[in-house]
Amino acid sequence: MDRFKGKVVLVTGSTRGIGKAIAEAFLREGASVVLNYRKRDGEAKKAVEELSSISSNFIIIKADVSKTEEVDRLFKEIDAAYGRLDILVNNAGIGIAYPFIEHSVELWDRMIEINLRSAFLCSKKAAEYMIRNRWGRIINITSVAGIIGAAGLVSYSAAKAGIVGLTKTLAIELAKYNITVNAIACGWVRTDLSMSFFRLFSEAGKEEEFAKEWAKKHILIGRLLEPDEIAHAALFLSDEKSSGITGQVLIVDGGQTLGIYEAMS
Ligand code: NAD
Repeated sequence: MDRFKGKVVLVTGSTRGIGKAIAEAFLREGASVVLNYRKRDGEAKKAVEELSSISSNFIIIKADVSKTEEVDRLFKEIDAAYGRLDILVNNAGIGIAYPFIEHSVELWDRMIEINLRSAFLCSKKAAEYMIRNRWGRIINITSVAGIIGAAGLVSYSAAKAGIVGLTKTLAIELAKYNITVNAIACGWVRTDLSMSFFRLFSEAGKEEEFAKEWAKKHILIGRLLEPDEIAHAALFLSDEKSSGITGQVLIVDGGQTLGIYEAMS
């Protein structure tokens, strides 16, 4: 219940999906949580209502974490509320599919900004507090697309691969301050983002069914992951006893990348 009592945690992009599940898990374990989102106020209001039934120990800040000035404001507000930050989860991200040949430079830039630049900006600010306190945890949410690639997702895959490089380099540079930096590479997790992909390949309103059948064939455990399973990994990496784990990429994909085709036949 109180595993993270006294710790302040920022989870970027946390009003739905994986980020919300991570925020909820930290709240359940006694942390003070900073929720963040970019633009959907209605969704944010709903998340606040739902999370309030678990704990009142959170604040919510609207800020686009791909933009320098908005990240500066986000951290000013965190400073005013708590004066510290112990754990950062760089979760905010978007996925837009376009084949490489049709992929515009504008889309490439925006995808890199939201999925990679944001993690650099937030880590830089968060590290100031962590260095001062000689303790910190940075968890970067990446994707197996950044490890094995993914058709149609050239900018997303490149950004997520960039997250791996960022994770390893920050782990090396920040170890002396007792800060660990790790990544979680997600496979297919049931969220609005993943369902938007399944919708592209299924009949209208049949994406759940399509995803279920697809998962049976392509994911070793035979199903999509749930957001709280990623939250479980984030809490594990943030734990005091995980201080020996740094610079690692923990793949949480239900065995999707294990060469499952033989195994499933
Ligand atoms: P989602 O679309 O359900 O939620 C993303 C959240 O990020 C939303 O709350 C959105 O408001 C926020 N966000 C987006 N851009 C932002 C910005 N610039 N500033 C602040 N907030 C922003 O997505 P999800 O499926 O929960 O994905 C969360 C993370 O996990 C992403 O980084 C995604 O790439 C990664 N991931 C997801 C899957 C999956 O199958 N769902 C797989 C691999 C990796």
